Amino acid sequence: MDHDVYEHYTALELIHWAWEKYGSGLTFASSFGKEDLVILDLLMRHHPQVDIFFLDTDLHFQETYGTISRLETHYGRTFTRVKPFLSLKEQTLRHGEALWSRDPDFCCNLRKVEPLKKYLSSFSAWITGIRREQSPTRAHMKKVEWDRKFQLVKMNPLVDWTEKEVWSYIMERNLPYNPLHDRNYPSIGCAVCTRPVKQGEGMRSGRWSGFNKVECGLHQ
Ligand code: SF4
Repeated sequence: MDHDVYEHYTALELIHWAWEKYGSGLTFASSFGKEDLVILDLLMRHHPQVDIFFLDTDLHFQETYGTISRLETHYGRTFTRVKPFLSLKEQTLRHGEALWSRDPDFCCNLRKVEPLKKYLSSFSAWITGIRREQSPTRAHMKKVEWDRKFQLVKMNPLVDWTEKEVWSYIMERNLPYNPLHDRNYPSIGCAVCTRPVKQGEGMRSGRWSGFNKVECGLHQ
């Protein structure tokens, strides 16, 4: 696949193209963070039939679950929750208390990567809200890529958007957003692995603080 031909597409053009090409084989992975709200809104306005899901690790902030409820009311639709194969209790019994504090890679693999792999196996393409400026690990990402890890096409319609553009869209459309964004959480994951960032820190430096880890394993 020649990735570069899609680089001049706007986010909406890419979403139209993705829907026309993949239809019911297309899905959107949403954490309902700020970037995902833009994509969610574009999809709901133009292609509301598209599959939309949330990786529910059972460990998200109450504010995140509250935001999802508000968005479901806003759009009059329920979003699919993709759950880990092990409940939290089962994980504790098999792997001990607070696995995330000892081996976050293993915990992310159990609670995010493996359920995602199974879910994506039914689809031909997925959409994400990745932006290049979020971290050095994302700086090289393209609008359309072949996802070798999960073996399907991956589309990143906002990859060249700035944070300011994201917030302008949210404000213009008056979208409900996660209140943690107003409390210095630019990137929001599981509550036990996310802290607010300090002035001058990177957008993802509040994730897995204290570990040499910057991604869950979904986008590597
Ligand atoms: S972010 Fe933390 S709690 Fe969530 S799956 Fe990864 S290691 Fe586990």
